[in-house]
Amino acid sequence: MNTIAVLGATGSIGASALDVVARHPDRFQAGVLAAHRNVAALADLCTKFKPHLAVIADAAREAELRDRLRAAGLDTRVAAGAEALVEAAADSACDTVIAAIVGAAGLESTLAAARAGKRLLLANKEAVVMAGPLLRAALDEGGGELVPIDSEHNAVFQCLPARRDGLDAAGVRRIVLTASGGPFRGRSRAELRAVTPDMACAHPNWRMGRKISVDSATLMNKGLEVIEAHFLFDAPAERIEVVVHPQSIVHSMVEYADGSVLAQLGNPDMRTALAHALAWPERIEAGVAPLDLLAIARLDFEAPDRATFACLDLAWRALAEGGSAPIALNAANEEAVAAFLDGRLSFLAIAGVIENTMEKTAPSAVGTLADVIDGDLTARRVAQRMIASAKDWAA
Ligand code: NAD
Ligand code: MG
Repeated sequence: MNTIAVLGATGSIGASALDVVARHPDRFQAGVLAAHRNVAALADLCTKFKPHLAVIADAAREAELRDRLRAAGLDTRVAAGAEALVEAAADSACDTVIAAIVGAAGLESTLAAARAGKRLLLANKEAVVMAGPLLRAALDEGGGELVPIDSEHNAVFQCLPARRDGLDAAGVRRIVLTASGGPFRGRSRAELRAVTPDMACAHPNWRMGRKISVDSATLMNKGLEVIEAHFLFDAPAERIEVVVHPQSIVHSMVEYADGSVLAQLGNPDMRTALAHALAWPERIEAGVAPLDLLAIARLDFEAPDRATFACLDLAWRALAEGGSAPIALNAANEEAVAAFLDGRLSFLAIAGVIENTMEKTAPSAVGTLADVIDGDLTARRVAQRMIASAKDWAA
């Protein structure tokens, strides 16, 4: 029996993960469920999965969660606050941690799971972007393994050989990440001037949380994924390529020295990546409909529109600058997306705020978690000031 901790249990990835867990009661049990503040949703999941521990990150809601679980007759232990989250990631009763918290809020629990030697199923790409080298060191220290569940990186993982001695030893020439292009593919800047959060979150192929949905609409999601691929697969920037593939059927590809290109295909349903990562190296049923190639009929590929969707190049730039630049990129993006989602910033200004934040925060060397947190807070403050000012950052 494999005991799983789901950090971010009430989110979109959390739901897909628990759907797969529930299909295999003989193999998996949910030992820890953690969420930010949605007590009702977390309590419902506890009733269904009966974990031994439930963590609510917002400590003000601890009593309410305790009351609800008691009323439901559960003996699930309750813990609260950011520190409880980090402890839960290293819970000795769990073998596997699904890191599915959105944003920098997931950083420390992701690192803790790696340090504790868990099998780390990683969705929280922001943690890798912020602290790739620290995450690698934590994995080495803990001796566990990381299986990516971001669909592109899961696809690359599946297309790489089982022995991981680096790309050269494996004869890999390039990693090709596919991007759907998001809901605004083909639009001009003029057409994007007045788009709303709901329009940005209406993704054509995937149903996801609102932050990653906006990232998909700006193409920052692909930018973050380029940096994620760099750290996860030790791939130099010039060996990572992005192609737009609107059908989201080819999840990514690996090109080898002999000209072979291996791709992983499937319906756009995160349960495939989750089932793969949960059972790896075995294969299990995920509840995903079989791929109907005749119904899909065609697979298209095109170049990303880098001028309209400026965030993609900002991510390449952050990767080239190195040090704290990806931290600033991520922090400014989180602030700008949050402001866009609550009507304080226009869609096109997101890239402007990120670019200007990167220019105002000179990249510095990053050695410790304190350096990461410092870089994150500094960039957030700069970005917040820009967002609060009257200037049009879309200009
Ligand atoms: P979501 O908004 O649906 O869920 C986020 C989860 O994180 C929720 O359970 C929430 O309670 C929790 N959370 C938020 N802030 C927290 C905090 N401060 N402390 C503790 N928990 C907190 O987001 P999602 O779409 O499930 O995405 C989660 C992560 O997975 C993101 O990093 C995203 O980039 C990545 N990802 C998602 C998808 C997808 O299909 N949804 C695909 C690939 C990667
Ligand atoms: Mg992805």
